[in-house]
Amino acid sequence: MKDTTRHQGKRRQLVQILVDKGIMDKAVLEAIGNVPRHLFMDSSFEDHAYQDKAFPIAADQTISQPYTVAFQTELLEVSKGDTILEIGTGSGFQTAVLCELGARVYSIERQQELFKKTKLFLTKLGYRPKFLSFGDGYKGLPEYAPFDKIIVTAGAPYVPKPLLSQLKVGGRLVIPVGDNPQIMTLFVRQSATKFEKTELGEFRFVPLLEDKN
Ligand code: SAH
Repeated sequence: MKDTTRHQGKRRQLVQILVDKGIMDKAVLEAIGNVPRHLFMDSSFEDHAYQDKAFPIAADQTISQPYTVAFQTELLEVSKGDTILEIGTGSGFQTAVLCELGARVYSIERQQELFKKTKLFLTKLGYRPKFLSFGDGYKGLPEYAPFDKIIVTAGAPYVPKPLLSQLKVGGRLVIPVGDNPQIMTLFVRQSATKFEKTELGEFRFVPLLEDKN
């Protein structure tokens, strides 16, 4: 688990690519500049870890493209101390970026293999999310709600109602909706019953799967 100056140099180049693609939030750029992405993927991909691309991880899943992580995180408008729910822990990369931003992170993963592996790995790296849950993201985490922000990192065929209801008034939900490609969608909760919805372009994600049990 080494993070060398060569890795750090490549990371600075990646951050510049994100700036060139329109990411402006300094704190988000700094957070991505701090997370050793090469350690979140199989060592056979190490040389490519700082390309702006998604890569396969365990259980047929992917680590999201850095631009996508940056775009979603920027939309969340994270403040230090925010309570944030992430759906789709996956490699833990997005989780680590949110931890870097000083958020109190709750994250749900439905693949047991990934859940176990990532939980250990984040601890090894020194990241301390509040709670990693093995379960179904469609349900959210009612016992820890309401959340300031919710981020979904898999493509949702529809917007799960529990996620909207677990958002604080003033809170933000960022979720890719639809079936390949998905439309990145932002919901801002304006009152108990009112949500402002904004659509922000096409992205491609692995599907948010519904549990059969
Ligand atoms: N944030 C991750 C992205 C991983 S890809 C990263 O940065 O690496 C999306 C993840 O969502 C996969 O790990 C997949 O197993 C998980 N997922 C899919 N459906 C889910 C569901 N219903 N509940 C929780 N996680 C789910």
